[in-house]
Amino acid sequence: MNETPTRAYAEIDLAAVRSNVRALRERAPRAELMAVVKSDAYGHGAVPCARAALDAGATWLGTATPEEALALRAAGIRSRIMCWLWTPGGPWREAVEADLDVSVSGTWALDEVRAAAREAGRVARVQLKADTGLGRAGCQPADWAELVGAAVAAQAEGTVLVTGVWSHFACADEPGHPSIALQLTAFHEMLAYAEKEGIEPEVRHIANSPATLTLPESHFDLVRCGIAVYGVSPAPELGTPEELGLRPAMTLKASVALVKTVPAGHGVSYGHHYVTERETRLALIPVGYADGIPRHASGSGPVLVGGAIRRVAGRVAMDQFVVDIDGADVSAGDPAVLFGPGDLGEPTAEDWAGAAGTIAYEIVTRIGGRVPRVYRNG
Ligand SMILES: *Cc1c(COP(=O)(O)O)cnc(C)c1O
Repeated sequence: MNETPTRAYAEIDLAAVRSNVRALRERAPRAELMAVVKSDAYGHGAVPCARAALDAGATWLGTATPEEALALRAAGIRSRIMCWLWTPGGPWREAVEADLDVSVSGTWALDEVRAAAREAGRVARVQLKADTGLGRAGCQPADWAELVGAAVAAQAEGTVLVTGVWSHFACADEPGHPSIALQLTAFHEMLAYAEKEGIEPEVRHIANSPATLTLPESHFDLVRCGIAVYGVSPAPELGTPEELGLRPAMTLKASVALVKTVPAGHGVSYGHHYVTERETRLALIPVGYADGIPRHASGSGPVLVGGAIRRVAGRVAMDQFVVDIDGADVSAGDPAVLFGPGDLGEPTAEDWAGAAGTIAYEIVTRIGGRVPRVYRNG
């Protein structure tokens, strides 16, 4: 895009993505790094962020769905790509032909991938997922022998190569949580069993961003980093991005759409949950919940406009919200910064998360498709 959009845009600093990947690689020097680019790279744009991450030394990309992974291949990306969120009847054959690494949590999935490999005349790259305690995807320890046995048989018939054994933490963002050590122990045990049965995984991995940052014994051969690649702290308790050596990549900007003077006692936005105390000036910010601005941040979301942080006055609507700029010198067309790295006085995604009662992951990931992404430092 040549011209900066006028209504609103999310500026994505690809130099920040590259420097975050380098910082994470320094935290896990013996492991390879998978940049997790699911959900359009947490709202930052999958293809440009994937390219930036690979430039900075990531050797793997990770997505949730196979469609997301196939889109990266279609864009010409040749690196290893793993995807883990499968349902019966999924695009197994396309995945095998695109040389994706596919995750398998149960024998139904192994059966489907074997059939696809046979049809394609190719060997499928499969990673076995262990549920070491998260209680979400992954194979339970009680079912592990059956899954490993089926994988060993599939390798013997030549349809499958098991490239990885992996798992995922429940509470890595709470260092010292007792589940962390229990999950590591379970992972070691399930890995040892698979290896005893003849599986020789190229990569063993369990660490997400918080584990990469806080738990070296979880790094194994590969760390899977999502949120930290985009420069957002996995949890405020772990430190600010700056303290973690990270830089937020997304800045969300809008242009003030209207400024007007209203009398005292004037209700603002749906429901009139804000009423002016005195004659004042209101500025209209032309983004709303359709753009991913959380309605839960009504009355509290922060915006830098006219040199000061203002709070959303009244409700966030679908396409717009209002701030009370009091006596400030603000005109239509002036910039309003909802969040960014914070070093120019603007709020951060973490501030919006606090205002909306959620996590910063959700703030950046939900910025909607109607908001153009503008790439810097590509
Ligand atoms: C999303 C996801 C990650 C990345 O998590 P972050 O906390 O963003 O680093 C890693 N592994 C799996 C399985 C995921 O679903």
